Amino acid sequence: MVEQSKKTNACPYAKRCGGCEYQGKPYEEQLKEKQDYVRKTLQGICEVRPIIGMENPYHYRNKVHAVFDIVKGGKHTTQRGVKSKVSGAAPGTIISGVYKAGTHDVVNIDACMIEDEKADAIIRDIRGLLRSFKIKTYDEDTGYGLLRHVLIRKGHYSGEIMVVLVLGSPILPSKNNFVKALRKIHPEITTVVINVNDKRTSMVLGEKETTIYGKGFIEDTLCGKVFRISPKSFYQINTVQTEVLYGKAIEAAGLTGNETVIDAYCGIGTIGMIASDKAKEVISVELNRDAVRDAIANAKRNQIKNVQFYNADAGKFMVELAEQKKKVDVVFMDPPRAGSDEAFLSSVVKLAPKKVVYVSCNPETLARDLKYLMKHGYETGACQPVDMFPFTKHVEGIVALTRK
Ligand code: SAH
Repeated sequence: MVEQSKKTNACPYAKRCGGCEYQGKPYEEQLKEKQDYVRKTLQGICEVRPIIGMENPYHYRNKVHAVFDIVKGGKHTTQRGVKSKVSGAAPGTIISGVYKAGTHDVVNIDACMIEDEKADAIIRDIRGLLRSFKIKTYDEDTGYGLLRHVLIRKGHYSGEIMVVLVLGSPILPSKNNFVKALRKIHPEITTVVINVNDKRTSMVLGEKETTIYGKGFIEDTLCGKVFRISPKSFYQINTVQTEVLYGKAIEAAGLTGNETVIDAYCGIGTIGMIASDKAKEVISVELNRDAVRDAIANAKRNQIKNVQFYNADAGKFMVELAEQKKKVDVVFMDPPRAGSDEAFLSSVVKLAPKKVVYVSCNPETLARDLKYLMKHGYETGACQPVDMFPFTKHVEGIVALTRK
């Protein structure tokens, strides 16, 4: 079934999928390119340490997403016409995979070099079950059909597996039997959630969710703490490298046990909770409501009493803290690719923590935000890049800033 060879480093879908910009490049070369890119982007701002790569850069994605479709053509021809050129499959075949870059044509994928292998197997087997359960795939053009996407999350250490079935309408016929049949093949599945997305949108997940099997989330361990992860919460997709990244971030903060720490853009609370053993108190802020709900449960689960969570925009929240003249010693910030904003950064400057530890998934916005902080009284240490996303162009980096 697995159409790829690790030895030749070749992915049969590379041209049509487009998800991995570095396909076909030896891993050492990928690391060198990322190193050069970070160096170039941060030139004149800070020194860049050698990137930390992975020993085994395959199948690291603990979250796997597949869009479902049926090959049109012949009797199934629609206004969009024949798609079999992209999928490589005959008309009427149910396919699942990714959208071909820049289109809504589905490239059928059986196995991916960077995705968890078990997750890929589950997706293939869901594809195989659909016909006998008379479950149709959703048609984006007409709005007919049911199954739009499948999202799988797997706990790296716990092995717990969540299957999210994204449907165009709320009812999955014979849902209990479907779960039973799926769990018969993959007993490792610990929870199954139905997510309803009835909008004509490119967003994968809709608002409404129903758990049809298990507890509705998975748990995993990260740096010795247990975290629960819901379908919509952000969770780093490469667990091995996340532990490296967080280790470096916490080391860079130089905590002694007396500090008031902010964990901004905290997701399900990971960085702040891991730092909480070495801090007096941690104040965490996150915009996504589900992630905050997970974070609160996570603090309880790990019996952490010195962390508080706020569901808010990080920029607005920091402005309020600055107005209250809160005493803050260390700020961890881990914004999305767009980086932070002026409300946030100017409030950091007002709060004047000794240290700011910036965890970034985009060197361009990192460079922009570092320049702002350097202009307003901060000195940057070296950047530590970590390769969280082998075979793709993305790179993560940490920079610690100290108040002059
Ligand atoms: N530190 C976490 C999450 C990092 S990803 C971890 O390592 O797992 C960035 C997070 O920022 C996401 O959880 C996203 O929901 C959140 N976010 C995006 N914009 C935000 C904003 N304006 N204010 C607060 N949080 C935001």
